[in-house]
Amino acid sequence: MELKVRRQHHRIGFWILSARLAVEQGGHGTVSAPTAAAEITTDSLLPWDDTGRPWIGGRFTEAAGPTVDDHAPATGERLARVQLAAAEDVDAAVAAARAAQPAWAALSIRERAERMEALADRILATVDRIGRLDSRDTGSPLTPMTNGARKGALYLKQIAGAALELQGRTIPASARGWHVTRREPWGVIGAITAYNHPTLYSCQKSGPALIAGNTIVIKPSEQAPLSTLLFASLTEDLLPPGVLNVVPGHAEAGAALVAHRDVTRVSFTGSVATGLQIQRTIADSGRIKSLQLELGGKNPIVVFADADPAEAADATVRGMNFMRVQGQSCGSTSRLIVHRELRDAVTEEILTRVDKIRIGLPEAEGTQMGSLISPVHRDRVLGFVEAGKADGGELLAGGGAPADPALAGGAFVSPTVFAGVQLGHTLAQEEVFGPVLSIMTFTEDADAIELANATEYGLTASVWTRDIDRALRAADAIEAGYVWVNDVETRYTGVPFGGFKQSGIGSEQSLLDDLEQCTRTKAVNIAVR
Ligand code: NAD
Repeated sequence: MELKVRRQHHRIGFWILSARLAVEQGGHGTVSAPTAAAEITTDSLLPWDDTGRPWIGGRFTEAAGPTVDDHAPATGERLARVQLAAAEDVDAAVAAARAAQPAWAALSIRERAERMEALADRILATVDRIGRLDSRDTGSPLTPMTNGARKGALYLKQIAGAALELQGRTIPASARGWHVTRREPWGVIGAITAYNHPTLYSCQKSGPALIAGNTIVIKPSEQAPLSTLLFASLTEDLLPPGVLNVVPGHAEAGAALVAHRDVTRVSFTGSVATGLQIQRTIADSGRIKSLQLELGGKNPIVVFADADPAEAADATVRGMNFMRVQGQSCGSTSRLIVHRELRDAVTEEILTRVDKIRIGLPEAEGTQMGSLISPVHRDRVLGFVEAGKADGGELLAGGGAPADPALAGGAFVSPTVFAGVQLGHTLAQEEVFGPVLSIMTFTEDADAIELANATEYGLTASVWTRDIDRALRAADAIEAGYVWVNDVETRYTGVPFGGFKQSGIGSEQSLLDDLEQCTRTKAVNIAVR
């Protein structure tokens, strides 16, 4: 053990030196030196010995689905073996959730909240392990993944603190009667998640659902399922068996969960195409269900003529989420709509900043930008780059893989900037979900708003101006569910995050709203004689 630690120190020292050299040499920093992380085996991070399996009824359970290899997108290396859930395993998970729900709902809300707070403490005690697992499984840098897990735990604590705010009303609807509403759980909630922030989603889906008295079956993304299974194992001896279940699997497992007659609410985070498919599946199942859809975005950042170019460039690079998740965030402000007079200054500042972003292996110290989720997705993103060029956009930066041979085994794409993007271009309309920024220009304020609204999406928007009237006019006119004024990227816990238009139905992250959405309202009318 001591030897292992000493070896790690030696490697860290070597690595910090190489990273510093890479940074000092300037240019497009790539960070690929060997790191101490290589000494931490993935096996030592996993809560199982040989193969991960569905977590059903409070334990890992032999399933009927196939066993597959799970890979690290940054290296192609095999991380783990996972047995997927077949439709009958989804049935078993829903049956366990259904059986556990009445007793769980019979606990006081305070008690349920205390259990979730205790789960948050377990996550915090394990956060380095979870963050590393998420970093390996997603290809995103270690620090943001660890911070995401920490944020998920803090969210659980905050929503546990808000539990007693879940209240009904007393309505003076008749002269002497009492008319009251109660908040009651839906029953079993089926949650399906995207790959970009696995642990954060595990917390955001399960916290409000369980505190409100539901039980839950989570189907994590097949592209990064490991930490959700680790998360489930942390509930052992804390949540009664069946209260939280996890079924790793592909679309078929998701569809089986959505269609199950005992799943009364579906909470989904993913693409518009899958959201539409889920609506179809629900209709075809012949059941009416409550549905939450947290979908994609093609979000604008509008920079008016009176904004500071350097500040606007900072915001654009931050809002694009090049760093942290390689642009793979639904909230990324991937369309810069900048006043013609500021275009050159802002573009130049953006290119300077983009050039300094350090791409590297996710766990290497100093890495700011890692790998995309898979080679398939990298090729999809590069397809958007080709479409951008074919449409007549001007490629100013990136557009391909970084040159560093040490990154050749992964799904890396350099931060990419296109200028001259026009309304009809693919890059002005379609979500890339990768590190591709499109720059568009305007002269009249009204044109900026028109451009901002000229997509099917309506998730986030950011507005930069020193003129308060202009800011408020824009915030009013932009069709999006989450608007920043002179701010970007940050999600504030307590503030509802959700989409307009094709970006979804419902919201998350707002504590009381989250709890309320996990309940249905029962009205009780009491006649007083
Ligand atoms: P995706 O839609 O491909 O997959 C999401 C999940 O749905 C996965 O778990 C997948 O297995 C499952 N799924 C696929 N087909 C299904 C079906 N027919 N029935 C049930 N489940 C099915 O999305 P992705 O590639 O994992 O994530 C990227 C997308 O998610 C982007 O569009 C992004 O904007 C969006 N997203 C939105 C938010 C938000 O909060 N609004 C957050 C993160 C990601």
